[in-house]
Amino acid sequence: MHPTIQSKLPNAGTTIFTIMSSLAVEHNAINLGQGFPDFEMNQALPELVSKAMADGHNQYVHMNGLPLLRERISEKVKKLYNTDVHPADEITITPGGTYALYTAFTAILQPGDEVIVFEPAYDCYIPQIELSGAVAVTIPLKAGSYKIDHELTRSKITAKTKAILINSPHNPSGAVLEEDDMEFLQEIVSGTGIFIISDEVYEHLIFDGKKHLSVMLYPELYERSFVTFSFGKVYNCTGWKTGYCIAPPMLTKEFRKIHQFNAFTVFSPVQYALAAFLENENEYLNLGKMLQQKRDYFKELMAKTRFEPIPSYGSYFQIYSYKNISEEKEYDMAVRLVKEFGVATIPVSALYKTPTNNQVLRFCFSKKESTLAAAAEKLLDV
Ligand code: PMP
Ligand code: GLN
Repeated sequence: MHPTIQSKLPNAGTTIFTIMSSLAVEHNAINLGQGFPDFEMNQALPELVSKAMADGHNQYVHMNGLPLLRERISEKVKKLYNTDVHPADEITITPGGTYALYTAFTAILQPGDEVIVFEPAYDCYIPQIELSGAVAVTIPLKAGSYKIDHELTRSKITAKTKAILINSPHNPSGAVLEEDDMEFLQEIVSGTGIFIISDEVYEHLIFDGKKHLSVMLYPELYERSFVTFSFGKVYNCTGWKTGYCIAPPMLTKEFRKIHQFNAFTVFSPVQYALAAFLENENEYLNLGKMLQQKRDYFKELMAKTRFEPIPSYGSYFQIYSYKNISEEKEYDMAVRLVKEFGVATIPVSALYKTPTNNQVLRFCFSKKESTLAAAAEKLLDV
């Protein structure tokens, strides 16, 4: 007899981001698939990490994160969202945003609980929910605008609904939640025991003068929320995998019960560096402007191709339709684009539980202009 694993994720394959990045390497293609910048981060930050190491900051910091870093985050939240979050009981530094989401789901979910997830959705949410024996109740975002259908959402709330997952600015569409969405959310959770998990990793990547509506702006939402962030997106260093979770004290207490036995704490030198670097608010406040220019630059080049843009107001991403080009399924089209034209993208259908084919692909524009220009040149032939 051999040991066999009864899979906890029997239907999971390899994430689409790894599939497409591997194909890009194999076919020497330009990678506009997986979301990561191909330009250098501000070098002052790695210098601060080296300094922290040289200064001897190489042992465990506090399990909830370096106190100074939590204080700086608290100051930033106060400035941006006019909310007091206490560094000691409401902020926990984590090894990335993904880990923060997993810990939040694990803290609240029991087998059989339902979590509302809007599709398309960043691909870690549903497996993370299922690992707790809970069920993701998927609701499609509106075709074209990727906005939340309020009435449909209301109809999916049951006695088993334990949480609603929101993500603004949205991966993969770049849609952002507006005041009417926040009012709707407040209304449907009012007087219920429903939690909110709010994935705000793209908080600073917002365009066209729109304002990021954090759940922390709304006390009735924040009191039931776990809000997750990633420094990888803020400082163009996705490989650093450092983030944090903000949640009210009672929620944070349960979050930390899990965190202390899992990662326990996060790489110390980076936390010292981030605490120093956060003092310069322009580093994160200018990010939206920089990315908006990239979105526009790429869109201008793409206007010469047969791909049609769907509006993006934030994140690293814009969805383009290829309805005018082919009837192929999204995955097949994405694979053909890598192999025959040398450009990797993400088939948006991979971010749905429900089988879908809307003939749309996600392009990451967080790249050097030369990369975007070279990709658009290749796409002219499609
Ligand atoms: N949420 C969304 C919507 C993302 O796009 C990402 C980026 N990969 C994450 C969470 C996770 O961030 P991290 O790399 O810090 O785990
Ligand atoms: N968030 C990134 C994206 O959407 C990828 C992260 C990952 O590869 N897991 O492309």
